[in-house]
Amino acid sequence: ERFEEAPLHPVMLRNIKLAGYEIPTPIQRYCIPAVLEGHDLLSCAQTGSGKTAAFMIPILSKLMGKASSLAAPRPVPGSTEPYIAQPLVLVAAPTRELATQIFDESRRFCYMSKLRPCVVYGGADSATQRMELKKGCDVLVGTPGRLSDFIERGRILSLKRLKFVVIDEADEMLDMGFEPQIRKLLQSSGSLFFIRTLDANEDDDQQVLMFSATFQKAIRKLARDFLSDDFVQIK
Ligand code: AMP
Repeated sequence: ERFEEAPLHPVMLRNIKLAGYEIPTPIQRYCIPAVLEGHDLLSCAQTGSGKTAAFMIPILSKLMGKASSLAAPRPVPGSTEPYIAQPLVLVAAPTRELATQIFDESRRFCYMSKLRPCVVYGGADSATQRMELKKGCDVLVGTPGRLSDFIERGRILSLKRLKFVVIDEADEMLDMGFEPQIRKLLQSSGSLFFIRTLDANEDDDQQVLMFSATFQKAIRKLARDFLSDDFVQIK
């Protein structure tokens, strides 16, 4: 019933206090332990339920313990070498507003850690967003169009280090026609369950979390294709 009961990193517990969160919401009570235990997740969640913190808290807490060994080397100031962002966490969300909210929440929880969050979305200057990525990016939040654009252009963003992929408001993104982009993101991050099983290398493992207001057929199919067999479903 309290955040302190979960085995969270001390920096995370302090950030939760600073945020003024005293009691976990129901979705946080289910998600935090499941993610800490390493499960994939398909969760039904409405906005306002506290779902952003439900995935940010356990993911960032796990990374705080080992970020220095996992994170890509930081860009060297003044270097002419191309620097490609290699985040450890990718969160895809349908709109600029939602992506920004998730980014704000991630900043709050990355405070006093070595983790650096970034956000990318369409309809805004991409050069500015690329400059932010070039400062280093461990946690990337973005809309599917801009994410795909950066991946396809090459030399900007690589998904090969990802440890966590979060698909937020999955039903919204499918309704907007982003299923091909979502599948491609999951595929290029090696989240295809089949590939993950072949590569079942304890520490190399990845977690995939999906949030959706409805569990329509296409969502269940996405979950079957990309979540591990023993994923936890939270209604
Ligand atoms: P979300 O559903 O993620 O959009 O969160 C809705 C709002 O609830 C946000 O403004 C959060 O900052 C806030 N919130 C999330 N978890 C908690 C909590 N455990 N206690 C108090 N406020 C929270």
